[in-house]
Amino acid sequence: MRVVVIGAGVGGLTVAALLARAGLEVTVLEHHTYPGGSAGTFWHRGFRFDAGATLLAGFDEEGVFTRLERRLGVHFPVRRLAPGEALMEVWLPDGGVVARPVGRAFELEAQRAVFGRGVEGFWRWQEKRALALWRLAPGLPFPPADVKECLSLAQRGLSWALVHRADLLGLLADLVRPTLAHAPAHPGFRRFLDAQLLIASQTDAGHTYALFGAAALDLPHRGPAMPLGGMGVIAETLAQAVVRRGGRVLYRHRAERLQARNGRVEAVEVVLGGRRRGERERLEADLFVANLTPGDLMALLPGAAHQAPPADAWGAFMLHAAIPEAAVPPGALYRQWAGEGEWVFLSLSDPGDTRRAPPGVRVLSASAHTRLADWRGLSEEAYRSQKMAWQERMVRQVERLIPGFRESALCLLGATPRTYQFYTRRQDGWVGGYPQVHPLRTSSPKTPFPNLWRVGESIFPGQSVPAVAMGGERVAALVLDRLGLAQPADAVLEGCASAPGGHRVR
Ligand SMILES: Cc1cc2nc3c(=O)[nH]c(=O)nc-3n(C[C@H](O)[C@H](O)[C@H](O)COP(=O)(O)OP(=O)(O)OC[C@H]3O[C@@H](n4cnc5c(N)ncnc54)[C@H](O)[C@@H]3O)c2cc1C
Repeated sequence: MRVVVIGAGVGGLTVAALLARAGLEVTVLEHHTYPGGSAGTFWHRGFRFDAGATLLAGFDEEGVFTRLERRLGVHFPVRRLAPGEALMEVWLPDGGVVARPVGRAFELEAQRAVFGRGVEGFWRWQEKRALALWRLAPGLPFPPADVKECLSLAQRGLSWALVHRADLLGLLADLVRPTLAHAPAHPGFRRFLDAQLLIASQTDAGHTYALFGAAALDLPHRGPAMPLGGMGVIAETLAQAVVRRGGRVLYRHRAERLQARNGRVEAVEVVLGGRRRGERERLEADLFVANLTPGDLMALLPGAAHQAPPADAWGAFMLHAAIPEAAVPPGALYRQWAGEGEWVFLSLSDPGDTRRAPPGVRVLSASAHTRLADWRGLSEEAYRSQKMAWQERMVRQVERLIPGFRESALCLLGATPRTYQFYTRRQDGWVGGYPQVHPLRTSSPKTPFPNLWRVGESIFPGQSVPAVAMGGERVAALVLDRLGLAQPADAVLEGCASAPGGHRVR
């Protein structure tokens, strides 16, 4: 059974590694020279910078990466953060700084210290909802892709509803009301919520539906970890797992067109880069998985209509820099500015992570949301001057978090939606998936072709590195189930663990 996965993002590689582990013949096509896409790490002037994602979670006992380590027999090189350690700090307009430590008791204490006891009720609600959702989310077939998934959803939903029957109305209401409905009127606290939800759900507390908001705010308590060597080590480890199981990850291989016959995809046309630039290949397979945005997948399909990113889609402006260790004031590894001007999310490398910078130097990335429309149709000159203006604004904002940053920076590198479009091939540079305004925003992995699946940010549970890995687990389970190879995916995959190399299925 031959499988082609288009795109070596974390979503695509998770499916690829799980399918290769189950004995399928897997080929991953990646247009770029390294894996990871929005969660990749690249070299520039001797430093390793994160292309997009910087903050990692999912290493708790039930977390997706802990599960993948078990299933794939891999080890992700990370440092798990200890309870009490400040994961991030949020800077408010009144000068207050809210720490977000690992562990609920520590977090509650930090919240009380800044906002008073009035926020306790909110956090009690958040904990209850988040725990309920985490119990349900792994492998949840939502929206269902077929009748079997419909039945499984109904079954799981029913037993979950029975467990939570005393609070069921509240839970259902939280699928439609916004997170803000639960927040006390404290303006600083509301600003804190808006800032935190913007990075997790791509919209503010007044628009993020409450159930998603509760889960998104749980991040510090869901196994946060520092990837040693940069976020790209997650994708690199998954790519190695594919190869170790006999699969292939082909870089500089861009899928240009899918060829279909009799309602099934039968091949992909590939354009090669590097030394083989200009060459083309045709690759046949039995199954295809697209780690692409909906519009980018449409563009590969014969006769499909153009599909633009949604009107509320975001792009990112990213500023990468290296600075001497001595210039970094003490504080958390992640710092969010939620005061005047752009809300910047700053991420620092772990002190002493010499895989990213020489001793005594730290690398940092600062990102801000930017509207895609502002970057469309610009002349080269207008683009350059807008990029420089943004870079200057970002430097100013980083200065607020790291005084003296401008003078101490050893190197500066800006990235715009155009940069993302070029390197990750995402349409218009759209990143972050759908803003989570209601639960039906994410789509099913199903496509109009029975042997073509999609994975990544556009399917449940949406954006973030652990979320796309969970989506990858689900797609792998669906594919294996269709082939009659896995009923409960875990049991089959774990059962395979005793047969080194898995078995090949043809
Ligand atoms: C600025 C920024 C900050 C973020 N911060 C965080 C964070 O701190 N924590 C977090 O968890 N998440 C964060 N995210 C989100 C996270 O990075 C993404 O949700 C996740 O990495 C998306 O993975 P994916 O599998 O959907 O696809 P992608 O990462 O988009 O990967 C798709 C891959 O497919 C390749 N490709 C595309 N078209 C083709 C083609 N035609 N042929 C071959 N290959 C192709 C691309 O090159 C890419 O490698 C951030 C994202 C951004 C942009």
